[in-house]
Amino acid sequence: MKSHLLPDFIVERLEDRCNKCGVCVKQCPWGVYSWNDDKTDILIDYTKCVGCQRCVVYCPNKALIVRPYYGSYRPNSYWTKEVISDIKKQAEQGGILLVGTGSDRPYKVYFDHILLNASQVTNPSIDPLREPMELRTFLGRKPDQLEIEIKDDDIEIKTELHPNLVVETPILFAGMSYGALSKNAFLALAMAAKEFGTLFCTGEGGLPKDMREEYGPVAIVQCASGRFGVDPEYLNCAAAIEIKIGQGAKPGIGGHLPGEKVTAEISATRMIPEGTDALSPAPHHDIYSIEDLAMLIYALKEATNYEKPVFVKIAAVHNVAAIASGIVRAGADVIVIDGFRGGTGASPKVMRDHVGIPIEMAIAAVDQRLREEGIRHKCSIIASGGIRCSADVVKAIALGADAVYIGTAALIALGCTMCQKCYTGKCAWGICTQDPNLAKRLNPKEGAKRLVNLLRAWSLEIKDMLGGMGINAIESLRGNREHLRGIGLEEWELRVLGIKGAGE
Ligand code: SF4
Ligand code: SF4
Repeated sequence: MKSHLLPDFIVERLEDRCNKCGVCVKQCPWGVYSWNDDKTDILIDYTKCVGCQRCVVYCPNKALIVRPYYGSYRPNSYWTKEVISDIKKQAEQGGILLVGTGSDRPYKVYFDHILLNASQVTNPSIDPLREPMELRTFLGRKPDQLEIEIKDDDIEIKTELHPNLVVETPILFAGMSYGALSKNAFLALAMAAKEFGTLFCTGEGGLPKDMREEYGPVAIVQCASGRFGVDPEYLNCAAAIEIKIGQGAKPGIGGHLPGEKVTAEISATRMIPEGTDALSPAPHHDIYSIEDLAMLIYALKEATNYEKPVFVKIAAVHNVAAIASGIVRAGADVIVIDGFRGGTGASPKVMRDHVGIPIEMAIAAVDQRLREEGIRHKCSIIASGGIRCSADVVKAIALGADAVYIGTAALIALGCTMCQKCYTGKCAWGICTQDPNLAKRLNPKEGAKRLVNLLRAWSLEIKDMLGGMGINAIESLRGNREHLRGIGLEEWELRVLGIKGAGE
């Protein structure tokens, strides 16, 4: 069938710069470039281009330009190019449209409608270069009250404390599985977490055995509906366990890693046969109520001698506050809330773009509800899904989170250009692929260095913002919405976010 689709990108070569070195032919995994028969010229088929920009970055002569295709249908603000292209694709393929990464639709970005406070005159600001500034964060259940006994000069804590995790910055790496990610990308996240004093999450694909001893102590191991790779050794080697109920990019549905990506090592890690599709069901088939969830939480605690905090991850959906309240009562130590901008290796486009709510509103609603019910101290909250910069981190924490997960931002640090083709396994940057020739493009040590640099840069910026507000510890900012003001927001939006408008 002849395709009726217009190209997405156009590739231009600056003839006066190009010396026909052929780097572009090697770098493009999409077959855009090819040699002519006598290898004297390079042919370009720009209709195959996905806009990953790999060739542009690696062209030694800076001879390439890749830009959106400028031809389009007749302009129509209702039947946009995207709508028309999606219909045409489905008419040609007859299936669900898949995409990678988080939703790119132009919904309002609430982070961009919230401004931070700064101290002036009274309550002076703090200079983080000269005064101590604490970003260390404790994650886990806190006691209702602390009983202490003072003996001579010693203070003894009598209350039995729940296990807590300590991270040096309130930024953790979100669950991204080995399988969706290449081993090198997965390893880079683990190495960076270890070096910086934070944690990474395995996602639902398990933790390879050769990484357990070194990186288990900085891993949050996931137990998702497919239960891939879950056994007592996996649970016990980790810092914490995360039960994944849902994720922001595809709330309410399961996952699918195609058989072509299930290599020998991935099959061993996930404990499934090589080359078979790894299908995780939409629900956990043993969880149909909060009581069932409580049973799984306590089964995991029992299996790990009550030494590991148990996280529960849910997508931000309409009644997220009530769901979160139930999860705390079920015994979770940390709740992860994943907003609708949350990324993915593969999701049906319709789910990614039309289901869920923004993380800013979900965090504010959950924090408010748990405070009203007097149970906020019983769990920590991690905001996830679309955290783009240090200001988003600070705003998420002031809205009520204890810490954030970053996923997409971490992948961008590794080289990702948001081409959204992760589900094809042909990631030109070696991040979302199991093709050994593509995966080796990402050096895990260099990747870890980029990630550590990103964490350091954001942490320094967070210290600046805290100092400006006259706060010297990130924990003092949690849920402190007096430091936030809304701009360009309606009354109902300010009410849900629990913040005043600018000037009030
Ligand atoms: S490497 Fe990426 S940007 Fe360059 S031609 Fe191929 S698909 Fe397009
Ligand atoms: S991870 Fe790779 S395939 Fe996915 S969006 Fe980024 S560059 Fe594209």
